[in-house]
Amino acid sequence: MKPKEISLNIPPIENMMDLNNMENRREPDHESDEDHGVTSFDTPLRSDAFSISDEEKIKKIEYHFREIMTTLGLDLTDDSLRGTPKRVAKMYVKEVFSGLNPKNLPVARLFENKFQYDQMLVEKDITFYSHCEHHFVPIIGKAHVAYISSGKVIGLSKINRIVQYFAKRPQVQERLTVQIAKELQRVLKTEDVGVVLDATHLCVSSRGVGDTNSKTGTAHFTGRFKEGHYKGEFLNYINSK
Ligand SMILES: [Zn+2]
Repeated sequence: MKPKEISLNIPPIENMMDLNNMENRREPDHESDEDHGVTSFDTPLRSDAFSISDEEKIKKIEYHFREIMTTLGLDLTDDSLRGTPKRVAKMYVKEVFSGLNPKNLPVARLFENKFQYDQMLVEKDITFYSHCEHHFVPIIGKAHVAYISSGKVIGLSKINRIVQYFAKRPQVQERLTVQIAKELQRVLKTEDVGVVLDATHLCVSSRGVGDTNSKTGTAHFTGRFKEGHYKGEFLNYINSK
């Protein structure tokens, strides 16, 4: 199959941030407590990140968020605002930043792939919600994921869950892309993974320069997806209706 011109919602591959050559960006002395493999793209976590319980974290964040709201001049005795600090704290710990805690990493069971051995599997348009780590406002995007089976497959919903897990952290899009790819490589026991993310950053669209139309594309290709044929087939499929 001949790759056709890449167009529409995915930026041309030459203009997309290709992250394969950025492996050395991390500080050499950086340490990670994540137990699923040290990568150059680990989220910078403190060594005591999980020394207190979720409940204790919620209490602390509630206290500090109340301080922020009070400092802004809001009247926390108002009925509508009274519950906000606790609501935000619970949302941070249990939902939008739950992907910081390795205990929430989805467990993916592998299945034998008897019928489609050596074929490419693509799952496109996986919606994700993340947060920009520089402004703590949402990043909303689509993930497109492909892999070539090493003889095993996982349930499709697990791919969505892996994307969501890493999205539920304060993130930069480049790191999110690589973290998804590395986890898929690990779980699927394959070198051949492609991940493309296409996202809108609310820190760009809703504030700052106020550009409501710009999108950011990132890609990470490993193994055979570095080759034109596989990369082309994957990107072709993403762009097909
Ligand atoms: Zn930002």
